[in-house]
Amino acid sequence: MTANGVRYRWPGRPVVVVCIDGGDPAYLERGLADGAVPHMARFMSRGFSGIADGTVPSFTCPNNMSLVTGVPPSIHGISGNFYLDPASGEAVVMTGPELLRAETVLAAFERAGARVAAITAKDKLRRQLSKGLEPSRGSVSFSSERARECSRAENGIEDVLEFVGLPQPEVYSMDLSLFVLEAGIRLLERRRPDLMFLSLTDYVQHKHAPGTAEAHRFYREVDARVGRLAELGAVVALTADHGMNDKSRPDGRPNAIWLQDLLDREFGPGDTRVICPITDAFVAHHGSLGGFVRVYCLQGRATPSAIERFLAGMPGVEAVLDRAEVCRRFELPPDREGDVAVIAEAGTCIGAAEADHDLSALGGARLRSHGGLAEARVPFILSRPLDDRYLQRAAASLKSLQIFDFALNGVRD
Ligand SMILES: [Zn+2]
Repeated sequence: MTANGVRYRWPGRPVVVVCIDGGDPAYLERGLADGAVPHMARFMSRGFSGIADGTVPSFTCPNNMSLVTGVPPSIHGISGNFYLDPASGEAVVMTGPELLRAETVLAAFERAGARVAAITAKDKLRRQLSKGLEPSRGSVSFSSERARECSRAENGIEDVLEFVGLPQPEVYSMDLSLFVLEAGIRLLERRRPDLMFLSLTDYVQHKHAPGTAEAHRFYREVDARVGRLAELGAVVALTADHGMNDKSRPDGRPNAIWLQDLLDREFGPGDTRVICPITDAFVAHHGSLGGFVRVYCLQGRATPSAIERFLAGMPGVEAVLDRAEVCRRFELPPDREGDVAVIAEAGTCIGAAEADHDLSALGGARLRSHGGLAEARVPFILSRPLDDRYLQRAAASLKSLQIFDFALNGVRD
């Protein structure tokens, strides 16, 4: 089996990859220290555990697509939640399946006769994750957000609420994630797919810091369910799309650089356009404030090097990179990149114009967000041990996009 140039072994037992959205290593560390995650602790001691490099920008869509295709955005094309279409000058949401340029590992296996399933919390991810899947061949794909609307023709399954045995979960809740895991358990019990990809939501991590009672409660619930997946005989692989950091000032307001305002003052209004590729419908999570933005130079007063000079040494800015450099360093597609990428340090977020960000949806909570290098380190855990060759590979370098490779090819039977 080959997908995007990577060879995969046919699974001897079901393989389940779980993406804990926003699952910063700090949550796991605190959960382990406080005894909240006994199953994960067992995976780590008896199987494999490492910290992997995720895709930058450390956002949800690029990383989910890297995990499920096994290749970086330069090949799969998804480098944010939003990009500026150079032809129309419009900001375009990047969740359409037509924008995904690589085949998913799931689709490649399905084509070869495997039974696969992709279950997500947020529906925005589902259409790309399920690209190329044919429900008529027995594959299943749905989101817990739209669980009650599933049909056999579109999703390969109907009456999902009854199948899972839970009510429709609220969008802003930990239940949206737990529903995904429960559905995975039920599928494994009743249909036993060869490959599953289960992708959660970072609602809890955006709201609650590591070590808090709510974070522990969520990890305890997730832990019990991944333990059940392993008990049912699956190889369980756990990783995250990105980490999460507190990006607020001591007084609780977001520690934001309003980059569009700064650039307008320096170079004149209309000369540049700042795009915040974290933007999605879930503004209560992050107010569209993340750690990575793209600047488009529209009228020529601001050039990439002028912007680099202007932002050099600014507190909270980790890196200012022109298109060629950011694409080279992070394997990004040039046609979906801005003229300049600006990356924030761990405790800082970057916005466009202050007036354009509605922070009321945060409800006064401290802003916790992601997108930069500080949030691109993620857990990489397998429930079973690796062979020597993969242990050596992991010691040399470990990328989260290798999770299917490691789980299918590296695990000792
Ligand atoms: Zn995410």
